Amino acid sequence: MDGQHLSNQPRIDAAEILDGITEWVEIETPSTDGAAVDGLSRLIERQFAEAGAEVTRVPGRDGFGDHLLFRAPWGNPSEKGILVVCHMDTVWQHGTLGRRPVTREGDKVFGPGIYDMKGGAYLAYYAYRHLVRLGRRTRLPVHFLFVSDEEVGSGTSRQLIEAQAAHAKYALVMEPGRNHKGLMNCVVTARKAVGRFVVTAHGVSAHAGVNHDLGRNAMRELARQILVLEDLTDYARGITVNVGVVSAGNPGFANVVPDKASAEVDFRCPDATSAEEIAAKVHALQPIGPDIRLEIVGGVNRPAYERDDGVAALYDQAAAIARDMGFELPEVSTGGGSDGNFTAAMGVPTLDGLGVCGAGAHASNEHLLYSSLEPRTQLLMRLMESLA
Ligand SMILES: [Zn+2]
Repeated sequence: MDGQHLSNQPRIDAAEILDGITEWVEIETPSTDGAAVDGLSRLIERQFAEAGAEVTRVPGRDGFGDHLLFRAPWGNPSEKGILVVCHMDTVWQHGTLGRRPVTREGDKVFGPGIYDMKGGAYLAYYAYRHLVRLGRRTRLPVHFLFVSDEEVGSGTSRQLIEAQAAHAKYALVMEPGRNHKGLMNCVVTARKAVGRFVVTAHGVSAHAGVNHDLGRNAMRELARQILVLEDLTDYARGITVNVGVVSAGNPGFANVVPDKASAEVDFRCPDATSAEEIAAKVHALQPIGPDIRLEIVGGVNRPAYERDDGVAALYDQAAAIARDMGFELPEVSTGGGSDGNFTAAMGVPTLDGLGVCGAGAHASNEHLLYSSLEPRTQLLMRLMESLA
Protein backbone atom coordinates (compact mmCIF):
# COMPACT_ATOMS: atom_id res chain seq x y z
CA MET A 1 0.00 0.00 0.00
CA ASP A 2 1.46 3.35 -0.94
CA GLY A 3 1.67 6.33 1.36
CA GLN A 4 -1.35 8.10 -0.09
CA HIS A 5 -3.77 5.38 0.89
CA LEU A 6 -2.72 4.56 4.40
CA SER A 7 -5.90 6.00 5.84
CA ASN A 8 -9.01 3.89 6.20
CA GLN A 9 -10.99 6.34 4.10
CA PRO A 10 -12.92 4.46 1.41
CA ARG A 11 -11.73 5.24 -2.09
CA ILE A 12 -13.60 5.56 -5.36
CA ASP A 13 -13.20 2.04 -6.67
CA ALA A 14 -13.64 1.46 -10.41
CA ALA A 15 -14.18 -2.29 -9.99
CA GLU A 16 -16.91 -1.65 -7.45
CA ILE A 17 -18.51 0.92 -9.78
CA LEU A 18 -18.47 -1.52 -12.69
CA ASP A 19 -20.13 -4.20 -10.56
CA GLY A 20 -22.88 -1.71 -9.71
CA ILE A 21 -23.35 -0.61 -13.32
CA THR A 22 -23.50 -4.24 -14.44
CA GLU A 23 -26.28 -4.97 -11.96
CA TRP A 24 -28.30 -2.06 -13.41
CA VAL A 25 -27.60 -3.06 -17.03
CA GLU A 26 -28.69 -6.64 -16.33
CA ILE A 27 -32.21 -5.39 -15.62
CA GLU A 28 -33.54 -4.65 -19.12
CA THR A 29 -35.51 -1.41 -19.30
CA PRO A 30 -37.01 -0.61 -22.70
CA SER A 31 -38.84 2.74 -22.36
CA THR A 32 -42.06 1.22 -23.63
CA ASP A 33 -42.31 -1.37 -20.83
CA GLY A 34 -43.08 0.60 -17.68
CA ALA A 35 -43.16 -2.50 -15.49
CA ALA A 36 -39.64 -3.42 -16.59
CA VAL A 37 -38.33 0.07 -15.85
CA ASP A 38 -40.01 -0.15 -12.43
CA GLY A 39 -37.94 -3.28 -11.80
CA LEU A 40 -34.78 -1.19 -11.99
CA SER A 41 -36.28 1.77 -10.17
CA ARG A 42 -37.06 -0.41 -7.14
CA LEU A 43 -33.39 -1.36 -6.93
CA ILE A 44 -32.26 2.26 -7.32
CA GLU A 45 -34.78 3.39 -4.70
CA ARG A 46 -33.47 0.81 -2.24
CA GLN A 47 -29.86 1.83 -2.88
CA PHE A 48 -30.47 5.56 -2.41
CA ALA A 49 -32.64 4.92 0.66
CA GLU A 50 -29.90 2.76 2.23
CA ALA A 51 -27.52 5.69 1.68
CA GLY A 52 -29.84 7.98 3.60
CA ALA A 53 -31.59 9.85 0.80
CA GLU A 54 -35.19 10.97 1.09
CA VAL A 55 -37.19 9.21 -1.64
CA THR A 56 -40.18 10.41 -3.66
CA ARG A 57 -41.72 8.01 -6.18
CA VAL A 58 -43.84 9.69 -8.84
CA PRO A 59 -46.25 7.19 -10.46
CA GLY A 60 -45.83 6.63 -14.17
CA ARG A 61 -48.69 7.00 -16.63
CA ASP A 62 -49.64 5.92 -20.15
CA GLY A 63 -47.79 2.62 -19.67
CA PHE A 64 -44.48 4.24 -18.75
CA GLY A 65 -42.58 3.57 -15.54
CA ASP A 66 -42.42 5.59 -12.34
CA HIS A 67 -39.99 8.45 -11.90
CA LEU A 68 -37.80 8.80 -8.81
CA LEU A 69 -36.65 11.86 -6.94
CA PHE A 70 -34.01 11.64 -4.21
CA ARG A 71 -32.95 14.39 -1.85
CA ALA A 72 -29.65 14.30 -0.02
CA PRO A 73 -30.32 14.62 3.72
CA TRP A 74 -28.58 17.97 4.15
CA GLY A 75 -29.04 21.58 3.18
CA ASN A 76 -31.97 23.92 3.41
CA PRO A 77 -34.80 22.47 1.27
CA SER A 78 -36.09 25.94 0.41
CA GLU A 79 -32.71 27.03 -0.99
CA LYS A 80 -32.16 26.52 -4.72
CA GLY A 81 -29.70 23.69 -5.24
CA ILE A 82 -28.21 21.19 -7.65
CA LEU A 83 -30.41 18.97 -9.80
CA VAL A 84 -28.71 15.84 -11.14
CA VAL A 85 -30.69 14.42 -14.07
CA CYS A 86 -30.62 10.74 -15.13
CA HIS A 87 -32.81 8.35 -17.10
CA MET A 88 -33.37 4.67 -16.36
CA ASP A 89 -34.83 3.59 -19.71
CA THR A 90 -32.92 2.43 -22.78
CA VAL A 91 -33.70 1.98 -26.48
CA TRP A 92 -33.08 -1.79 -26.20
CA GLN A 93 -35.92 -4.28 -26.35
CA HIS A 94 -36.15 -7.34 -24.12
CA GLY A 95 -33.77 -10.10 -25.14
CA THR A 96 -30.93 -7.81 -26.24
CA LEU A 97 -28.96 -8.74 -23.13
CA GLY A 98 -29.18 -12.43 -24.05
CA ARG A 99 -27.49 -11.72 -27.37
CA ARG A 100 -25.09 -9.10 -26.03
CA PRO A 101 -24.36 -9.70 -22.36
CA VAL A 102 -22.10 -7.34 -20.43
CA THR A 103 -18.59 -8.14 -21.73
CA ARG A 104 -15.23 -6.56 -21.04
CA GLU A 105 -12.50 -6.37 -23.70
CA GLY A 106 -9.54 -4.43 -22.36
CA ASP A 107 -10.73 -0.95 -21.42
CA LYS A 108 -14.08 -1.34 -23.22
CA VAL A 109 -17.11 -2.74 -21.44
CA PHE A 110 -20.00 -3.57 -23.78
CA GLY A 111 -23.65 -3.88 -22.88
CA PRO A 112 -27.09 -2.53 -23.87
CA GLY A 113 -27.64 0.85 -22.22
CA ILE A 114 -24.27 0.74 -20.44
CA TYR A 115 -23.13 4.00 -22.07
CA ASP A 116 -26.53 5.67 -22.62
CA MET A 117 -26.92 6.06 -19.72
CA LYS A 118 -26.90 3.46 -16.98
CA GLY A 119 -23.17 4.03 -16.54
CA GLY A 120 -23.62 7.75 -15.92
CA ALA A 121 -26.74 7.25 -13.81
CA TYR A 122 -24.83 4.84 -11.60
CA LEU A 123 -21.93 7.32 -11.26
CA ALA A 124 -24.43 9.85 -9.86
CA TYR A 125 -25.57 7.33 -7.26
CA TYR A 126 -22.00 6.29 -6.45
CA ALA A 127 -20.80 9.90 -6.11
CA TYR A 128 -23.64 10.61 -3.69
CA ARG A 129 -22.97 7.47 -1.68
CA HIS A 130 -19.26 8.22 -1.63
CA LEU A 131 -19.90 11.66 -0.16
CA VAL A 132 -22.03 9.99 2.52
CA ARG A 133 -19.34 7.37 3.23
CA LEU A 134 -16.74 10.12 3.64
CA GLY A 135 -19.04 12.14 5.87
CA ARG A 136 -18.87 15.05 3.43
CA ARG A 137 -21.69 17.08 1.97
CA THR A 138 -22.32 19.57 -0.80
CA ARG A 139 -22.72 23.24 0.03
CA LEU A 140 -25.99 23.42 -1.88
CA PRO A 141 -28.94 21.06 -1.43
CA VAL A 142 -28.86 18.33 -4.08
CA HIS A 143 -31.66 16.39 -5.75
CA PHE A 144 -31.29 13.41 -8.07
CA LEU A 145 -34.01 12.82 -10.64
CA PHE A 146 -34.33 9.44 -12.40
CA VAL A 147 -36.91 9.41 -15.19
CA SER A 148 -38.35 6.44 -17.07
CA ASP A 149 -39.09 7.76 -20.57
CA GLU A 150 -36.20 9.92 -21.86
CA GLU A 151 -35.53 7.78 -24.91
CA VAL A 152 -39.05 8.37 -26.21
CA GLY A 153 -39.09 12.12 -25.63
CA SER A 154 -39.83 12.44 -21.88
CA GLY A 155 -43.54 12.99 -22.46
CA THR A 156 -44.53 11.78 -18.99
CA SER A 157 -41.56 13.29 -17.13
CA ARG A 158 -41.19 16.72 -18.68
CA GLN A 159 -43.45 18.48 -16.16
CA LEU A 160 -41.59 16.88 -13.27
CA ILE A 161 -38.20 17.84 -14.73
CA GLU A 162 -39.33 21.42 -15.22
CA ALA A 163 -40.89 21.61 -11.74
CA GLN A 164 -37.60 20.44 -10.22
CA ALA A 165 -35.56 22.74 -12.46
CA ALA A 166 -37.62 25.67 -11.16
CA HIS A 167 -36.02 24.99 -7.74
CA ALA A 168 -32.52 24.43 -9.10
CA LYS A 169 -29.55 26.74 -9.34
CA TYR A 170 -27.63 24.27 -11.52
CA ALA A 171 -28.50 21.16 -13.53
CA LEU A 172 -25.99 18.36 -14.10
CA VAL A 173 -27.02 15.80 -16.70
CA MET A 174 -25.48 12.34 -16.65
CA GLU A 175 -25.77 11.59 -20.37
CA PRO A 176 -22.53 10.03 -21.66
CA GLY A 177 -19.37 11.92 -22.51
CA ARG A 178 -18.93 12.29 -26.25
CA ASN A 179 -16.22 12.04 -28.87
CA HIS A 180 -16.43 14.64 -31.62
CA LYS A 181 -14.10 15.49 -34.50
CA GLY A 182 -10.97 14.22 -32.78
CA LEU A 183 -11.93 15.59 -29.36
CA MET A 184 -12.36 12.81 -26.83
CA ASN A 185 -14.55 12.58 -23.74
CA CYS A 186 -16.30 15.92 -24.20
CA VAL A 187 -19.04 17.30 -22.01
CA VAL A 188 -22.02 18.93 -23.71
CA THR A 189 -22.75 22.65 -23.40
CA ALA A 190 -25.38 23.10 -26.13
CA ARG A 191 -28.05 20.98 -27.78
CA LYS A 192 -30.32 21.81 -30.66
CA ALA A 193 -34.05 22.21 -30.36
CA VAL A 194 -35.80 19.04 -31.51
CA GLY A 195 -39.22 18.89 -33.12
CA ARG A 196 -41.54 16.35 -34.69
CA PHE A 197 -44.32 16.61 -37.23
CA VAL A 198 -46.69 14.22 -38.88
CA VAL A 199 -47.77 15.59 -42.24
CA THR A 200 -50.74 13.77 -43.79
CA ALA A 201 -52.07 14.34 -47.28
CA HIS A 202 -55.73 13.45 -47.87
CA GLY A 203 -56.81 12.85 -51.49
CA VAL A 204 -59.50 10.80 -53.23
CA SER A 205 -59.27 7.07 -53.92
CA ALA A 206 -60.19 5.58 -57.26
CA HIS A 207 -59.73 2.47 -59.42
CA ALA A 208 -56.40 2.89 -61.15
CA GLY A 209 -57.66 1.33 -64.39
CA VAL A 210 -61.31 2.37 -64.58
CA ASN A 211 -61.26 6.00 -63.46
CA HIS A 212 -57.73 7.08 -62.65
CA ASP A 213 -58.66 10.65 -63.61
CA LEU A 214 -61.16 10.87 -60.73
CA GLY A 215 -58.53 9.92 -58.18
CA ARG A 216 -56.43 12.41 -56.22
CA ASN A 217 -53.27 10.56 -55.32
CA ALA A 218 -52.27 11.44 -51.76
CA MET A 219 -48.90 9.73 -52.21
CA ARG A 220 -48.05 11.91 -55.19
CA GLU A 221 -48.92 14.98 -53.12
CA LEU A 222 -46.85 13.76 -50.21
CA ALA A 223 -43.86 13.11 -52.46
CA ARG A 224 -43.93 16.76 -53.52
CA GLN A 225 -44.33 17.96 -49.92
CA ILE A 226 -41.39 15.81 -48.83
CA LEU A 227 -39.13 17.76 -51.19
CA VAL A 228 -40.42 21.06 -49.75
CA LEU A 229 -39.82 19.80 -46.21
CA GLU A 230 -36.33 18.46 -46.85
CA ASP A 231 -35.39 21.69 -48.62
CA LEU A 232 -35.90 23.55 -45.33
CA THR A 233 -32.57 21.99 -44.29
CA ASP A 234 -29.86 24.65 -44.02
CA TYR A 235 -26.55 23.19 -42.87
CA ALA A 236 -24.91 26.62 -42.70
CA ARG A 237 -27.45 27.66 -40.06
CA GLY A 238 -27.41 24.28 -38.31
CA ILE A 239 -30.98 23.48 -39.34
CA THR A 240 -31.94 19.97 -40.45
CA VAL A 241 -35.35 18.71 -41.53
CA ASN A 242 -35.52 14.96 -42.06
CA VAL A 243 -38.44 12.94 -43.38
CA GLY A 244 -37.73 9.62 -41.72
CA VAL A 245 -40.91 7.57 -42.07
CA VAL A 246 -43.52 7.46 -44.84
CA SER A 247 -46.69 5.44 -44.90
CA ALA A 248 -49.20 5.16 -47.72
CA GLY A 249 -51.07 2.62 -49.81
CA ASN A 250 -51.88 -1.01 -49.18
CA PRO A 251 -49.07 -3.43 -50.07
CA GLY A 252 -50.15 -5.54 -53.05
CA PHE A 253 -52.79 -3.06 -54.22
CA ALA A 254 -51.00 -0.90 -56.74
CA ASN A 255 -54.31 -0.73 -58.66
CA VAL A 256 -55.74 1.71 -56.11
CA VAL A 257 -55.19 5.48 -56.17
CA PRO A 258 -54.33 6.06 -52.48
CA ASP A 259 -56.38 8.65 -50.64
CA LYS A 260 -54.08 9.02 -47.65
CA ALA A 261 -50.33 9.31 -47.17
CA SER A 262 -48.36 10.53 -44.20
CA ALA A 263 -44.78 11.41 -43.34
CA GLU A 264 -43.06 11.60 -39.98
CA VAL A 265 -40.64 14.51 -39.84
CA ASP A 266 -37.79 15.25 -37.41
CA PHE A 267 -36.27 18.72 -37.29
CA ARG A 268 -33.35 20.22 -35.36
CA CYS A 269 -32.52 23.90 -34.89
CA PRO A 270 -29.74 25.63 -32.94
CA ASP A 271 -31.89 28.18 -31.13
CA ALA A 272 -35.46 29.07 -30.22
CA THR A 273 -35.82 31.63 -33.03
CA SER A 274 -34.90 29.23 -35.82
CA ALA A 275 -37.06 26.49 -34.26
CA GLU A 276 -40.10 28.79 -34.32
CA GLU A 277 -39.29 29.76 -37.89
CA ILE A 278 -39.17 26.15 -39.08
CA ALA A 279 -42.29 25.17 -37.13
CA ALA A 280 -44.18 28.10 -38.68
CA LYS A 281 -43.03 27.13 -42.19
CA VAL A 282 -44.19 23.54 -41.74
CA HIS A 283 -47.56 24.63 -40.40
CA ALA A 284 -47.92 26.96 -43.39
CA LEU A 285 -47.51 24.17 -46.00
CA GLN A 286 -50.18 24.45 -48.70
CA PRO A 287 -51.55 21.69 -50.95
CA ILE A 288 -49.82 21.55 -54.33
CA GLY A 289 -52.27 19.36 -56.24
CA PRO A 290 -56.03 19.96 -56.65
CA ASP A 291 -58.62 18.65 -54.16
CA ILE A 292 -55.96 17.79 -51.60
CA ARG A 293 -56.21 18.54 -47.90
CA LEU A 294 -53.12 18.64 -45.68
CA GLU A 295 -53.22 17.76 -41.99
CA ILE A 296 -50.19 18.92 -39.98
CA VAL A 297 -49.65 17.88 -36.38
CA GLY A 298 -46.62 18.55 -34.20
CA GLY A 299 -44.05 21.13 -33.21
CA VAL A 300 -41.02 21.60 -30.99
CA ASN A 301 -40.79 18.89 -28.32
CA ARG A 302 -37.38 19.75 -26.86
CA PRO A 303 -36.47 23.44 -26.72
CA ALA A 304 -32.94 24.54 -27.61
CA TYR A 305 -30.22 24.27 -24.96
CA GLU A 306 -28.11 27.31 -25.73
CA ARG A 307 -24.65 28.03 -24.37
CA ASP A 308 -25.36 31.20 -22.44
CA ASP A 309 -23.14 32.89 -19.82
CA GLY A 310 -24.46 30.67 -17.02
CA VAL A 311 -23.66 27.52 -18.98
CA ALA A 312 -20.20 28.86 -19.86
CA ALA A 313 -19.39 29.66 -16.20
CA LEU A 314 -20.54 26.22 -15.05
CA TYR A 315 -18.45 24.59 -17.77
CA ASP A 316 -15.39 26.66 -16.78
CA GLN A 317 -15.76 25.49 -13.20
CA ALA A 318 -15.92 21.82 -14.27
CA ALA A 319 -13.00 22.24 -16.69
CA ALA A 320 -10.86 23.77 -13.92
CA ILE A 321 -11.56 20.78 -11.65
CA ALA A 322 -10.64 18.40 -14.49
CA ARG A 323 -7.37 20.25 -15.11
CA ASP A 324 -6.59 20.04 -11.43
CA MET A 325 -7.18 16.28 -11.67
CA GLY A 326 -4.81 16.13 -14.64
CA PHE A 327 -7.05 15.91 -17.68
CA GLU A 328 -8.69 18.20 -20.21
CA LEU A 329 -12.46 18.43 -20.42
CA PRO A 330 -13.35 19.60 -23.92
CA GLU A 331 -16.88 20.77 -24.65
CA VAL A 332 -19.10 20.11 -27.64
CA SER A 333 -22.52 21.09 -28.94
CA THR A 334 -24.74 18.42 -30.43
CA GLY A 335 -27.90 17.90 -32.42
CA GLY A 336 -29.07 15.13 -30.11
CA GLY A 337 -31.65 16.13 -27.50
CA SER A 338 -31.72 15.23 -23.81
CA ASP A 339 -33.54 16.26 -20.66
CA GLY A 340 -30.86 18.97 -20.39
CA ASN A 341 -32.81 20.81 -23.10
CA PHE A 342 -35.67 21.33 -20.63
CA THR A 343 -33.52 22.58 -17.74
CA ALA A 344 -31.38 24.84 -19.94
CA ALA A 345 -34.38 26.36 -21.71
CA MET A 346 -35.67 27.42 -18.27
CA GLY A 347 -32.49 29.42 -17.78
CA VAL A 348 -30.91 26.96 -15.32
CA PRO A 349 -27.17 26.72 -16.05
CA THR A 350 -26.87 23.15 -17.34
CA LEU A 351 -23.86 20.94 -17.94
CA ASP A 352 -24.52 17.71 -19.82
CA GLY A 353 -22.43 14.74 -20.90
CA LEU A 354 -21.02 14.27 -17.38
CA GLY A 355 -21.60 10.51 -17.51
CA VAL A 356 -19.22 7.75 -18.53
CA CYS A 357 -16.96 7.99 -21.56
CA GLY A 358 -17.20 5.50 -24.41
CA ALA A 359 -19.15 5.31 -27.67
CA GLY A 360 -21.93 3.58 -29.58
CA ALA A 361 -25.11 5.04 -28.07
CA HIS A 362 -28.15 3.28 -29.61
CA ALA A 363 -25.77 1.03 -31.57
CA SER A 364 -24.69 -2.58 -31.22
CA ASN A 365 -21.10 -1.60 -30.31
CA GLU A 366 -22.29 0.43 -27.30
CA HIS A 367 -19.58 0.49 -24.63
CA LEU A 368 -18.11 2.52 -21.82
CA LEU A 369 -14.44 2.98 -21.01
CA TYR A 370 -13.45 1.42 -17.70
CA SER A 371 -10.67 4.00 -17.34
CA SER A 372 -13.30 6.78 -17.21
CA LEU A 373 -15.21 5.42 -14.20
CA GLU A 374 -12.96 6.73 -11.44
CA PRO A 375 -12.14 10.18 -12.91
CA ARG A 376 -15.72 10.89 -14.00
CA THR A 377 -17.04 9.99 -10.54
CA GLN A 378 -14.38 12.16 -8.91
CA LEU A 379 -15.19 15.03 -11.29
CA LEU A 380 -18.91 14.89 -10.51
CA MET A 381 -18.29 14.66 -6.79
CA ARG A 382 -15.90 17.59 -6.74
CA LEU A 383 -18.16 19.65 -9.00
CA MET A 384 -21.14 19.06 -6.71
CA GLU A 385 -19.00 20.01 -3.71
CA SER A 386 -17.66 23.15 -5.34
CA LEU A 387 -20.97 24.62 -6.49
CA ALA A 388 -22.25 27.39 -4.24
ZN1 LIG B 1 -29.51 9.02 -22.88
